Amino acid sequence: AVLARQSLREAKRWARAGAVLRDLEARCAAPAERLRQVADAMAAEMRAGLASDEPEGGDGSVVLKMLVTYVDSLPSGDEKGLFYALDLGGTNFRVLRVELGGKEQRIIKQESRGVSIPRHLMSGGADELFDFIAAALAIFVASEGEDYHLPEGVPRQLGFTFSFPVKQTSIASGTLIKWTKGFTIDEMVGMDVVAELNKAIRRQGLDMKITALVNDTVGTLAAAKYADNDAVAAVILGTGTNAAYIDHAHTIPKWHGPLPKSGDMVINMEWGNFRSSHLPLTEFDQALDAESLNPGEQIYEKLISGMYMGEIVRRVLLKMAQGASLFAGDVPQKLEIPYILSTLHMLMMHQDTTPDLQTVGIKLKEILGIHNTCYKTRKVVVDVCEVVASRGARLAAAGVYGILKKLERDTVSPDEQRTVIAVDGGVYKYYTFFAQCMESTLRDLLGEEVSSSVVIKQAEDGSGIGAALLAASYSQCLQDD
Ligand code: BGC
Ligand code: MG
Repeated sequence: AVLARQSLREAKRWARAGAVLRDLEARCAAPAERLRQVADAMAAEMRAGLASDEPEGGDGSVVLKMLVTYVDSLPSGDEKGLFYALDLGGTNFRVLRVELGGKEQRIIKQESRGVSIPRHLMSGGADELFDFIAAALAIFVASEGEDYHLPEGVPRQLGFTFSFPVKQTSIASGTLIKWTKGFTIDEMVGMDVVAELNKAIRRQGLDMKITALVNDTVGTLAAAKYADNDAVAAVILGTGTNAAYIDHAHTIPKWHGPLPKSGDMVINMEWGNFRSSHLPLTEFDQALDAESLNPGEQIYEKLISGMYMGEIVRRVLLKMAQGASLFAGDVPQKLEIPYILSTLHMLMMHQDTTPDLQTVGIKLKEILGIHNTCYKTRKVVVDVCEVVASRGARLAAAGVYGILKKLERDTVSPDEQRTVIAVDGGVYKYYTFFAQCMESTLRDLLGEEVSSSVVIKQAEDGSGIGAALLAASYSQCLQDD
């Protein structure tokens, strides 16, 4: 009788966990029809953002900022000389040095160093953050070998990749609109980030000139275009998410500046802030958003980027632990700690190829202190990861499809032009399931014929190199003028 009661309890437990899982699946569902609505909404918001010159601190009714980047010509290949870049984005920042040799030689040499940003600097003062960055830059500059050829008396040129929403006032200046991805240095909002970096560089006694300020998507697009002339857009799927693309300057209602010679203007969409009634949101997403550093903002980013997907999984597992005793016995204490489960952990569990899901078992133990899980439990964990990752990947594909619609490249073109979209970021690079799901979803949405001319290209290291390339092409512009 005891045994029977036990197994009845067990059966109920699994039924409850299964019900949560099925409910999650239903609420996260993103079938093609829904994705088409998301893509249409994305394209519509793109047009709205290009038309509205909402003042800073506006009421936020503009979902996509569609920021004018002042990048009106992308690197041509002629760029020559030694250039530096500084890439400040999510959790890491990198310093780079690139020697460019013009059309024939292209990138002669490149070196880079990555430094992780101590957490306390993300919420401290502006000077602390910028001094830390400039100090790392100074150390890197000091390691410059003798084989680099720098013209006498000319300061070193730097491209600054700053991966947050910035309202640019020129190619080399702009003010921070708001923080994302866990940064909360309030005094920085509204400040010119180039001026701040300049001051910190001078405090280090460095002689450097910042010739380009770019978003990581813009840097990635520049690097992609340098390698492949058919590149039209770049997407970052990393700690945060965003896209940039090339538009016709004369079709941008809010652009009142002179029409560039190229006729083009790169637009930083800031698509992470996209939201729409068509997005499949769950109670977990709503709670995550409400308890986040930026409630009500970056809703799309909170569904598809690396900072949040692992956290969504944690919230689901917590509910299963509380309501269905997924992990038998008490609710594991660590499971209650926000952000303890990163998307890197999530993908390692999800992509566990051992037949009995050993890796999942090890990760649950290491990260959450959950011991002795059975196969069935581990499988539920994998299933939860799969639901969250599929939704993210499918929504990311819908975003790309929305851009293609705006560019009118979602149908068969008479001249068979190729469309290249560069993608970078940790989620795309390391989460193979996510990348594959995104690509196959995009193929489905486009149909076979169109998708044969659309190429998704992984852009290795694009954001930093692209900034160096733009620093090069814009410093040459300065000299030419
Ligand atoms: C930022 C973007 C950035 C993206 C990817 C977002 O949170 O708002 O500016 O491009 O993350 O790094
Ligand atoms: Mg980055």
